[in-house]
Amino acid sequence: MSRSDADSWDLATSVGTTATMVAAARAVASLEDNALINDPFAAPLVRAVGIDVFTKMVDGDIDMAAVDADGTARVMTDVMAVRTRFFDDFFLDSAAAGVRQAVILASGLDSRSYRLDWPAGTVVYEIDQPQVIEFKTETLSGLGASPTAELRTVSIDLREDWPAALRASGFDDTKPTAWSAEGLLVYLPPDAQDRLFDNITALSAPGSRLATEYHPDGGAGLADRSKAISERWRSLGLDLNMADLFYAGERNAVVDYLPRLGWEVSTNTRPELFARHGRDFPTGDLVASLSNSLSVTAIRK
Ligand code: SAM
Repeated sequence: MSRSDADSWDLATSVGTTATMVAAARAVASLEDNALINDPFAAPLVRAVGIDVFTKMVDGDIDMAAVDADGTARVMTDVMAVRTRFFDDFFLDSAAAGVRQAVILASGLDSRSYRLDWPAGTVVYEIDQPQVIEFKTETLSGLGASPTAELRTVSIDLREDWPAALRASGFDDTKPTAWSAEGLLVYLPPDAQDRLFDNITALSAPGSRLATEYHPDGGAGLADRSKAISERWRSLGLDLNMADLFYAGERNAVVDYLPRLGWEVSTNTRPELFARHGRDFPTGDLVASLSNSLSVTAIRK
């Protein structure tokens, strides 16, 4: 089923499934020798959601290699490891620069509020749809996990008036903020993406920072790639057409849009980030376009 203006989901349906999918990749990536990341909460969260294929994946009960002749699953795990590390480093660098307020947009099953070494006095806001926030909060509490910062969850759709909800939760727009929009933009309509960055800018004191991603082939390339990936997942028992979840069509390039709003932007390609961690970027048709994706950081002047 494709998207509609006020659609909603939990972690086992529609867009919510993608949060469970990337958490499964983080769980697997955390177990590697020389792992780039350590997300001890990813596997229990994925098991709690209960999507069979992802539970099997985190439990090592799926022979990914058997369905993965060209390394698709391996690529997803590698890309997620590098992506997670990029956003982890972004928040830790922001903290080292003195930023004590963070907003994780579309937090999904991200456990940074529970696993990063935030400096004392840091307040972290997590925004996602109500069922997503509620599930993660209750599951982590049931596991005995405690946030490592002061965590304030904000349950709202990012197509609605989320700045008002954020302020109502105590957000202080006079303080610099570190913002992340990870794995989010393709799930927003193009105009909602622009509004998102307009709103972030209006809420950002000088010295605020932002991390996100930009996929230059966001239109047709993304649709083709997600169709191929969905077919692989279908062979494993996951009935999800990922292309139905994206908003296709032209959208402003975040790397052009942010400077117009007064942000100083820096970018890295995926192969550059892989190289930073001593890893080779994978080859193959399915990943060729992925190599063009940019990891973006920005500072508000
Ligand atoms: N950032 C998380 C991570 O990397 O693990 C989750 C990424 S997941 C691919 C996409 C997330 O975006 C989901 O948690 C979903 O609920 C959230 N999301 C997408 N559109 C949203 C919207 N309109 N309002 C709130 N959350 C949204």
